[in-house]
Amino acid sequence: MADAPQDGTAPLAEGDAERTRRRAELAEALERTRERIAVTGAEPTLVVVTKFFPAADAAALVDLGITDIGENRDQEAAAKVAELEETGHRPARVHFIGQLQSNKAASVARYADVVQSVDRVKIVTALEKGARAAERRLDVLLQVDLAGDDEGRGGVLPDALPALAERVAGSDVLDLRGVMAVAPLGGDPDAAFARLADLHERLLRDHPEATWRSAGMSGDLEAALVHGATHVRVGSAILGARPRAR
Ligand SMILES: *Cc1c(COP(=O)(O)O)cnc(C)c1O
Repeated sequence: MADAPQDGTAPLAEGDAERTRRRAELAEALERTRERIAVTGAEPTLVVVTKFFPAADAAALVDLGITDIGENRDQEAAAKVAELEETGHRPARVHFIGQLQSNKAASVARYADVVQSVDRVKIVTALEKGARAAERRLDVLLQVDLAGDDEGRGGVLPDALPALAERVAGSDVLDLRGVMAVAPLGGDPDAAFARLADLHERLLRDHPEATWRSAGMSGDLEAALVHGATHVRVGSAILGARPRAR
């Protein structure tokens, strides 16, 4: 800082202009997404997926009224949430939506409020340990594998869902809130979300408290809302195209 340029005002003004431009862009995209949702008549929780985008974008979204953000990589999420906390922009709920390794569970348990991608007992046990260490409770969604062919997107097979739900429901630090799914690549999202709705209805008989159904992304949120999604997870429609996976 000692070597700050004499003409430091120009770059600062440029930064401000860029921030203002980005904020307007996000506001507009958010409005378009809210309109898409409104057309369906549903009133889901909008989880904005900020993965690959900077904390400044997430902060702008919080300023625009967003209460829920989603992240899928532990390191990136941990740093981003810390930055949001420092600037007073922590959203009400941070959702972890990515495939979870048990060695990352302790870290995720420190900053996530909701873990949407729980798909095996090993992760449940690791999250419990992490939650106890952090003295926090976590909301849990069970990710269901609707493809059933191990596409690599994670998820518990429908047959194993009831047992996994029992395991989470019996936890003293995790709260079973519902289910999450991603429509299989190249498949019909409508059929996939109908299947999810059916599996969820059956789960609700034993776990009436597990009312959340997280389904639908930028490309298929309308189909998910037709089938009763309570949470949609929208990234690119609001933030723009992500850079290629690093
Ligand atoms: C990235 C991601 C999303 C958001 O996807 P978009 O198509 O960008 O809206 C939703 N859910 C999960 C699990 C994701 O990994």
